[in-house]
Amino acid sequence: MINIENLSKNFGNLKVLKNISTTINKGEIISIIGPSGSGKSTLVKFLIGQLRPHKNTVFYKMEDLAVLGESEIQRYRRKIWIIFQDYQLIQSLSPQENIIYPLLLEETPLAVIKKKYDAVKDLLDLSTIETKDIKKLSWWEKQKVAMARAIIHSPDFIIADEPTGNLDSESTFQMADILIKANQIGNTIVLVTHDEALLQYLKLNVQLRMIQL
Ligand code: ADP
Ligand code: MG
Repeated sequence: MINIENLSKNFGNLKVLKNISTTINKGEIISIIGPSGSGKSTLVKFLIGQLRPHKNTVFYKMEDLAVLGESEIQRYRRKIWIIFQDYQLIQSLSPQENIIYPLLLEETPLAVIKKKYDAVKDLLDLSTIETKDIKKLSWWEKQKVAMARAIIHSPDFIIADEPTGNLDSESTFQMADILIKANQIGNTIVLVTHDEALLQYLKLNVQLRMIQL
């Protein structure tokens, strides 16, 4: 789905990415790993079209991202979902409303929204938190809401940039379980992390490919 060929990025004299070549295939779970400052978030910025690549370096379904116009880049961005560390949940809406909000904006028929919502609610076990006050949810519950919102959107791939931050190991494994569940129902997952415990757990449970920066 994504092909990266000899992608490099310098910020002035600082060489951040050096001749990166890799692919992201549909349905897989792939991890971008490397120490802090190694260029993980820079690579993510290329993947979400925030940084424009040079010609012949980043391809989406065989199309060179470098030659897409602004409206085509917008269209590409709508195919990707990124989960941010601060979740970007809307505080005034319930978890359920947060999850379906993007579908309402797209004017998806209500029957379709309900079907998709019920499926994701079962998958991530949301029934006890769906109507709670967002501000009262735990870190872990917010993470589930953010993942549910990603899944319901049916993106081509979901990027999670350092989802485990400074978590204890139990929460790390819970996070890993959500990523595995999302992957098992067909989502392509790009996980950016330097969390060894998370990587070890995933390696035991799924076929994990890694891009080392
Ligand atoms: P990581 O996510 O792996 O921690 P980043 O991709 O955020 O790494 O950053 C890699 C390096 O590039 C860091 O040294 C960072 O300071 C530098 N950098 C990132 N963005 C910019 C920018 N817009 N201008 C200058 N330097 C940058
Ligand atoms: Mg980063």
